[in-house]
Amino acid sequence: MITLHELTIKKTHSLLLNKEISAFDLTKEFFDYIETKDKEINAYRLLLKDEALRQANEVDKKIAANENISFLAGVPLAIKDNILIKNNFATAGSQMLRNYRATYDATVIQRLKKSDAIFLGKTNLDEFAMGSSSENSAFEKPKNPLDLSRVPGGSSGGSAAAVASHQAIAALGSDTGGSVRQPAAFCGLVGLKPTYGAVSRFGLIAMSSSLDQIGPIAKNVEDAALILETIAGKDSYDETSENFQFQAQSIYERKDLKGIKIGLVKEIESNSFEKDLAISYQKSLDCLKQLGAAIEEISIPHISLSLPCYYVLMPAEVSSNLARFDGLRYSSSEKTGSLKDIYFETRGEYFGTETKRRIILGTFVLSSGYYDAYYLKARLVQALIKKEFGEAFKKVDLLVWPTTPTPAFKFNEKLNDLLAMYLSDIFTVPANIAGIPAVSLPIYGEGQLPYGLQFLASHFQEAKMLNVAYLFEQASNYGKFL
Ligand code: GLN
Repeated sequence: MITLHELTIKKTHSLLLNKEISAFDLTKEFFDYIETKDKEINAYRLLLKDEALRQANEVDKKIAANENISFLAGVPLAIKDNILIKNNFATAGSQMLRNYRATYDATVIQRLKKSDAIFLGKTNLDEFAMGSSSENSAFEKPKNPLDLSRVPGGSSGGSAAAVASHQAIAALGSDTGGSVRQPAAFCGLVGLKPTYGAVSRFGLIAMSSSLDQIGPIAKNVEDAALILETIAGKDSYDETSENFQFQAQSIYERKDLKGIKIGLVKEIESNSFEKDLAISYQKSLDCLKQLGAAIEEISIPHISLSLPCYYVLMPAEVSSNLARFDGLRYSSSEKTGSLKDIYFETRGEYFGTETKRRIILGTFVLSSGYYDAYYLKARLVQALIKKEFGEAFKKVDLLVWPTTPTPAFKFNEKLNDLLAMYLSDIFTVPANIAGIPAVSLPIYGEGQLPYGLQFLASHFQEAKMLNVAYLFEQASNYGKFL
């Protein structure tokens, strides 16, 4: 009997290599567990049992033949349902794609397949990744395994819930404004958004193409680094991908933080944090100082414009990206009549409320007469914010602030208060606007629920950022400060 909740990527790798378990038995064990556990969590949309067991068999053959295997070989993962796995359904949480089957693998999937990782299934999400609680899913709403009355965060809520309930060892999510980091924070996990361009977006159902990035949700920094190493790098199918190579080994380079400068952004007012967050945040800063880091206050004067800027740029791109779902392509519609009738009726029926809201908002900011006033202005503000981050990183190595203002909230708590829902992204959106990498780690105050501590670095400085994150994770005892 294997204890699933103790498994990390590294641990699984050594168990497999030492032949203490077989990939097949491990995968089967996960499915047996998922069969009962997921009835209460709803993390998965779709299970890929046959394919996963076949993949696992292949790994066992390689191990038996003493072939070299990668760290991810035989490791069961969960994949957000907006990332394509060939021949399988990919709904992106939308009725619009309820019948859509992917005809190719996303590049990240191809790379993980090459490493012999195993895909247990596709996970629930907010429709087209738009939301902060996964409540916008057109299907099952995943629950937070730490407290079933609370949301797991969003939009990669299913991925985070799967890992936190030990129904997968790690997962992939996508992060356009925080959707990897925020659910990771809500579920007590590590969530990494790579630099824009570090990971190919080919085969990710687009939400806002200039902001979307795929990233891992894992139990620790080490596992997140191993996944990043596998999925990162140039891809000829994504012109925005860069020739970036990340070595997971680099997170062990520094043994302390002497000589590292960490910036506190003065515009993020820590005296406004709720009490338990303030406690855990202060402990985090003390821990970083003890590791030898110099903490400095710096300014990013226009950081507070990140969220308003995001809510102009993102819907503009959403409206354009989602124009392709017309009832003729991707999923056929049973609607009849003129072409216009088919468009209207299909989009009217199969898009959810939040999706329609963003399409309308995006169409508005792009329409003639408003383009200059909203869209163009938001792009200028984005350029300004990017520049200010650039200036900040001339003075400090990393920035640090919390991932979210609150821990996981209750179901329905923010569903009818849009602004409150949007404001929950206030600390995650700046990294997407600036295109920089950010990682969220769990930290605990006096209550039961975790918060997230976020480290942010300059473009392609993942090695330094994750090295610091790893040291912090170890020194803080995974954010518990015991
Ligand atoms: N919560 C944010 C939104 O609703 C972020 C979504 C995301 O990162 N995919 O837009």
